[in-house]
Amino acid sequence: MLAALFTLLTLPYSSEALEPVISRQTIEYHYGKHLQTYVDNLNKMVAGTEFESMPLEEIVCRSQGGIFNNAGQILNHNLYFTQFSPVAADNHAPKGAILDAIIRDFGSFDAFKAEFEQKGTTLFGSGWVWLSADKDGRLVITQELNANNPVTKGLKPLLTMDVWEHAYYLDFQNRRAAHLQALWQIINWDEINRRYTAK
Ligand code: MN
Repeated sequence: MLAALFTLLTLPYSSEALEPVISRQTIEYHYGKHLQTYVDNLNKMVAGTEFESMPLEEIVCRSQGGIFNNAGQILNHNLYFTQFSPVAADNHAPKGAILDAIIRDFGSFDAFKAEFEQKGTTLFGSGWVWLSADKDGRLVITQELNANNPVTKGLKPLLTMDVWEHAYYLDFQNRRAAHLQALWQIINWDEINRRYTAK
């Protein structure tokens, strides 16, 4: 019996809580099947290697191939699934330090959202669009292909949208831009601010 080194995160909401933006069916496949598979694969691959007791961020910065791909996808999805709250929640607008930084670095919240959506829409193939902070707290938006994460560039990842087709095809089919636009309704900005201000 293989020891469970890495585990599937527990969602901080029920599987239908993000409807109508993300359906229960998408959560059941995306979280319940895709993410579970990355966890199972990584556990098989790292058993008995130097990676088995490393934090995910360190594995992502030090590995390649299958271990990198599965560790990267777990790190990406853990940050993705823990950044949402139901549409009816009152935390869907940035406040505090993260709002100040958005205005400083992008001019306005609307200008930030427009650039973020544009970078998500134009990423060719599978990957992720990220808001991250650099060492000085400056905000940057990057496109990361496949399983990559901004930690490999020395950045602190804050907010992300998954543009792999499995993230939106059941609910939006080919309309990636419409899916990205809808996600603002469920972003938990208290959590993004917490990540930004965490030491
Ligand atoms: Mn995904």
